[in-house]
Amino acid sequence: MSVDANCIFCKIVAGQIPSRKVFEDEDLFAFHDIAPWAPVHFLIIPKLHIPSMAHVGAEHASLLGKIMTLAPQLALEQGCNPYPQGGFRIVTNTGAEGGQEVHHLHVHVMGGPRPWLRG
Ligand code: AMP
Repeated sequence: MSVDANCIFCKIVAGQIPSRKVFEDEDLFAFHDIAPWAPVHFLIIPKLHIPSMAHVGAEHASLLGKIMTLAPQLALEQGCNPYPQGGFRIVTNTGAEGGQEVHHLHVHVMGGPRPWLRG
Protein backbone atom coordinates (compact mmCIF):
# COMPACT_ATOMS: atom_id res chain seq x y z
CA MET A 1 0.00 0.00 0.00
CA SER A 2 1.46 3.35 -0.96
CA VAL A 3 -0.37 5.44 1.66
CA ASP A 4 -2.00 4.34 4.94
CA ALA A 5 -4.86 6.68 5.85
CA ASN A 6 -4.35 5.89 9.55
CA CYS A 7 -0.59 6.53 9.55
CA ILE A 8 0.59 9.70 11.30
CA PHE A 9 3.65 10.04 9.03
CA CYS A 10 1.53 9.58 5.87
CA LYS A 11 -0.64 12.41 7.25
CA ILE A 12 2.48 14.55 7.74
CA VAL A 13 3.53 13.93 4.13
CA ALA A 14 0.02 14.88 2.99
CA GLY A 15 0.08 18.08 5.07
CA GLN A 16 -2.87 16.89 7.18
CA ILE A 17 -0.71 17.09 10.31
CA PRO A 18 1.72 20.02 10.61
CA SER A 19 5.45 19.44 10.72
CA ARG A 20 8.65 21.46 10.57
CA LYS A 21 9.83 20.37 7.13
CA VAL A 22 13.54 19.96 6.46
CA PHE A 23 13.44 18.50 2.95
CA GLU A 24 11.06 17.14 0.34
CA ASP A 25 11.39 15.60 -3.10
CA GLU A 26 9.29 13.15 -5.11
CA ASP A 27 10.31 10.17 -2.96
CA LEU A 28 11.32 11.48 0.45
CA PHE A 29 10.18 13.83 3.21
CA ALA A 30 12.22 15.01 6.20
CA PHE A 31 11.03 16.92 9.26
CA HIS A 32 12.14 17.81 12.78
CA ASP A 33 11.32 15.30 15.50
CA ILE A 34 8.64 16.66 17.82
CA ALA A 35 10.54 15.42 20.90
CA PRO A 36 14.23 15.87 20.07
CA TRP A 37 16.92 13.89 21.88
CA ALA A 38 19.74 16.03 20.56
CA PRO A 39 20.31 19.65 19.43
CA VAL A 40 19.74 18.42 15.87
CA HIS A 41 17.11 15.67 15.52
CA PHE A 42 15.12 15.12 12.38
CA LEU A 43 13.50 12.17 10.63
CA ILE A 44 13.83 11.12 6.99
CA ILE A 45 10.96 9.05 5.65
CA PRO A 46 9.97 7.60 2.30
CA LYS A 47 6.65 8.96 1.03
CA LEU A 48 5.78 5.36 0.25
CA HIS A 49 4.17 3.72 3.29
CA ILE A 50 6.64 1.00 4.30
CA PRO A 51 5.80 -0.03 7.88
CA SER A 52 9.35 -0.84 9.00
CA MET A 53 12.80 -2.06 8.00
CA ALA A 54 11.40 -5.57 8.44
CA HIS A 55 9.28 -4.93 5.34
CA VAL A 56 12.12 -3.85 3.08
CA GLY A 57 13.00 -5.82 -0.04
CA ALA A 58 15.34 -5.54 -3.01
CA GLU A 59 12.81 -3.27 -4.73
CA HIS A 60 13.47 -0.64 -2.07
CA ALA A 61 17.25 -0.56 -2.49
CA SER A 62 17.43 2.73 -4.39
CA LEU A 63 14.94 4.40 -2.03
CA LEU A 64 17.02 3.39 1.00
CA GLY A 65 20.15 4.50 -0.81
CA LYS A 66 18.59 7.91 -1.35
CA ILE A 67 17.78 8.20 2.35
CA MET A 68 21.29 7.23 3.43
CA THR A 69 23.01 9.59 1.01
CA LEU A 70 20.68 12.45 1.91
CA ALA A 71 21.29 12.05 5.66
CA PRO A 72 24.85 13.47 5.80
CA GLN A 73 23.93 16.40 3.56
CA LEU A 74 20.91 17.37 5.69
CA ALA A 75 22.84 16.75 8.92
CA LEU A 76 25.33 19.48 8.01
CA GLU A 77 22.60 21.80 6.73
CA GLN A 78 20.69 21.40 9.99
CA GLY A 79 23.66 22.26 12.18
CA CYS A 80 25.60 19.09 12.87
CA ASN A 81 29.31 19.83 13.09
CA PRO A 82 31.65 18.33 10.48
CA TYR A 83 33.25 14.90 10.87
CA PRO A 84 35.34 13.82 12.74
CA GLN A 85 34.96 16.21 15.70
CA GLY A 86 31.26 16.60 14.99
CA GLY A 87 29.26 13.95 13.21
CA PHE A 88 25.82 12.50 13.73
CA ARG A 89 23.95 9.34 14.66
CA ILE A 90 21.59 7.48 12.33
CA VAL A 91 19.03 5.17 13.98
CA THR A 92 16.14 3.13 12.63
CA ASN A 93 14.10 1.41 15.34
CA THR A 94 12.30 -1.69 14.05
CA GLY A 95 9.45 -3.51 15.77
CA ALA A 96 8.42 -3.49 19.41
CA GLU A 97 11.68 -4.95 20.69
CA GLY A 98 13.56 -2.53 18.46
CA GLY A 99 11.79 0.40 20.12
CA GLN A 100 9.66 1.42 17.12
CA GLU A 101 6.64 3.56 18.00
CA VAL A 102 5.55 4.90 14.61
CA HIS A 103 5.04 2.18 12.02
CA HIS A 104 6.14 4.08 8.93
CA LEU A 105 9.80 3.51 8.13
CA HIS A 106 11.91 6.41 9.35
CA VAL A 107 15.56 7.20 9.89
CA HIS A 108 16.43 9.36 12.90
CA VAL A 109 19.35 11.72 12.29
CA MET A 110 20.73 13.18 15.52
CA GLY A 111 23.70 15.40 16.17
CA GLY A 112 25.07 18.61 17.61
CA PRO A 113 27.16 19.39 20.67
CA ARG A 114 27.02 17.01 23.67
CA PRO A 115 25.46 16.43 26.12
CA TRP A 116 22.25 15.23 24.51
CA LEU A 117 18.97 14.67 26.33
CA ARG A 118 19.18 10.96 25.45
CA GLY A 119 21.33 8.67 23.39
P1 AMP B 1 10.36 5.55 16.78
O1 AMP B 1 10.29 5.29 18.26
O2 AMP B 1 11.68 5.20 16.18
O3 AMP B 1 9.19 4.97 16.06
O4 AMP B 1 10.31 7.13 16.63
C1 AMP B 1 9.17 7.86 16.35
C2 AMP B 1 9.56 9.31 16.49
O5 AMP B 1 8.56 10.10 15.91
C3 AMP B 1 9.73 9.79 17.93
O6 AMP B 1 11.05 10.28 18.12
C4 AMP B 1 8.68 10.88 18.07
O7 AMP B 1 9.11 11.96 18.86
C5 AMP B 1 8.47 11.30 16.63
N1 AMP B 1 7.16 11.86 16.35
C6 AMP B 1 5.94 11.34 16.65
N2 AMP B 1 4.95 12.14 16.22
C7 AMP B 1 5.55 13.18 15.59
C8 AMP B 1 5.07 14.35 14.91
N3 AMP B 1 3.77 14.62 14.79
N4 AMP B 1 5.99 15.20 14.40
C9 AMP B 1 7.31 14.95 14.51
N5 AMP B 1 7.82 13.86 15.13
C10 AMP B 1 6.96 12.99 15.67
